[in-house]
Amino acid sequence: MKNIIFIAPPAAGKGTISERLKENLGYVHISTGDMLREAIKNKTSLGLIVESIMAKGEYVSDDIVISLIKDKLNSLDGKPFILDGFPRTINQALELDKNILNLNYQVIYLEISKKEALKRALGRITCSCGKTYNLNVTNLKPKVSGICDACGQALRQRDDDNEEAFIIRYNNYMEKTKPIMDYYIEKNLLVMLDATKDMEKLYNDIIEVIK
Ligand code: AMP
Repeated sequence: MKNIIFIAPPAAGKGTISERLKENLGYVHISTGDMLREAIKNKTSLGLIVESIMAKGEYVSDDIVISLIKDKLNSLDGKPFILDGFPRTINQALELDKNILNLNYQVIYLEISKKEALKRALGRITCSCGKTYNLNVTNLKPKVSGICDACGQALRQRDDDNEEAFIIRYNNYMEKTKPIMDYYIEKNLLVMLDATKDMEKLYNDIIEVIK
């Protein structure tokens, strides 16, 4: 099984598909967004620095996320991993190759239109246990409205899942993250898949790619 890097516009479903790969295949799911939200929840000094930046939909600095990722990757003991939300800038991609990772990986680009991504962002509700649901995606709704199927806690919307923050996130994505694709295309490491496909089909396509 190859290590995976997911690149996609905001709310394309990287986190949901990563969780499935984690549950079924034992991948370690590394989401810089989750790590930063955890820091905010715990009110750490990092959390205090990034809270307003993230709520607005802006990117946090390369230095911060690179240091988070370095620590995490160093603690993996050779387990296969998924990078969800890193790298997001060309600097982060270069740093990953030069100074962090000596391992093979497959880059999977999940394609989705801006309109569909916005719809998904506005329908996304999350639980503090880590589960994510989506009111605008078939098969991703919770069984009981507003309640987590897995742990029974109340579901909530992320601070950056509103239209205003989404537009900033999407613009940042187009300006800073999408250009990374060329870097990976040149290295012959990128595969593009349709994020709007039925979840089952998308999952099977990913399995084919990472075998
Ligand atoms: P995500 O959960 O991947 O949608 O990320 C949520 C937010 O966390 C982003 O909008 C950024 O503010 C921040 N973030 C996560 N990963 C990165 C990264 N690699 N570089 C910069 N900011 C990031």
